[in-house]
Amino acid sequence: MRRVAILGATGSIGTQTIDVIHRLNRAGYGFEIVALGAGRNVALLAEQIVAVRPRAVCVAEESGRAELASRFPDLEIGVGEEGLVSLARRDGIDLVVNALVGAVGLRPTLAALEQGRTVALANKESLVIGGELVAAALNEHGGKIIPIDSEHSALLQALSAGKREEVRRLIITASGGPFLRTPIERLERVRPEDALRHPNWSMGARITIDSATMVNKAFEVIEAHYLFGIPYDRIEPIIHPSSVIHSLVEYRDGSVIAQLAPPDMRIPIQYALVYPDRPDTDLPRLDLTSAGALSFEPLDPARYPAFATVLAAARRGGTAPAVVNAADEVLVGRFLAGEIPFTGIARGLSAALAAWRGEGPPSLEAIRDADRWARRFASEISF
Ligand code: MG
Repeated sequence: MRRVAILGATGSIGTQTIDVIHRLNRAGYGFEIVALGAGRNVALLAEQIVAVRPRAVCVAEESGRAELASRFPDLEIGVGEEGLVSLARRDGIDLVVNALVGAVGLRPTLAALEQGRTVALANKESLVIGGELVAAALNEHGGKIIPIDSEHSALLQALSAGKREEVRRLIITASGGPFLRTPIERLERVRPEDALRHPNWSMGARITIDSATMVNKAFEVIEAHYLFGIPYDRIEPIIHPSSVIHSLVEYRDGSVIAQLAPPDMRIPIQYALVYPDRPDTDLPRLDLTSAGALSFEPLDPARYPAFATVLAAARRGGTAPAVVNAADEVLVGRFLAGEIPFTGIARGLSAALAAWRGEGPPSLEAIRDADRWARRFASEISF
């Protein structure tokens, strides 16, 4: 029996995790979902409570807690970030799936790792803004992180083909987003609805825009750095428009190992849940004969200037990644609201990083201060 807490249960990764757990149990695994953490989608959480029968849940707001308490009088119901942290820390849990969106995911990851637990991680911010803290927690308490993101799942799989000291570089594939072929001078005038049309994956609005600017790919480089302990100058993005290969590892003998799969997140979710097993749970299969040609091209820095800015923040370390993360969230929101042009996202990130004076190692408090400063900066800047 493996007892699981799913944080971010009502989101895309959370709902697919529940689906995968049902498939795994039909295949003979003994997973029990004992805790569900959600935000404001109380209606879906209530459906999940009926279907899954967890012992504890958590919602973002007090009103949601009251609504659930009247329907499920015996259920333990927490609220907000503290509620998520106590679910991650709760006794008798073997695996925490962190599928939360945003900076709210960092403290639950740390709480689980401080208990020496395994975290199946889809929350980007845990490593993007909290990489140094997470690395320290892993070091001190012996927990483990298994990535859920498709690129990092691919890297984990390809890394099993050799030893760490034999790795020459990690190559992370990127679709290029909806503006791969748009003339660069037209990017100033692209509209939110053009950016939201992602060619291969259907995802939330922010991550879709982050894929169009390559901010998401820079975040994935940071995550790979912390997950696998590879220096930044040996992690490279490559444009691969069809997204059939999810990432590759080049070894020093010249061999390159790639992982291919259909673009279905349930495959990396399942790998994270039962790593390193590969059970057959009837997930979609890749038809290579209809996958078409596999093509690759370098990432053009003039088309994706935000990529270098986020990487510069990563190399600076400390609270700089928290600054670009928070500024990006605000700038993406302003672009979607029609307030700033698409190219304003990259310009705003660069301006925020240049203006940020914070130094030194990140504490949770310093990260929060940097986040607050960057949000104000990004909401006031005009173009
Ligand atoms: Mg990804």
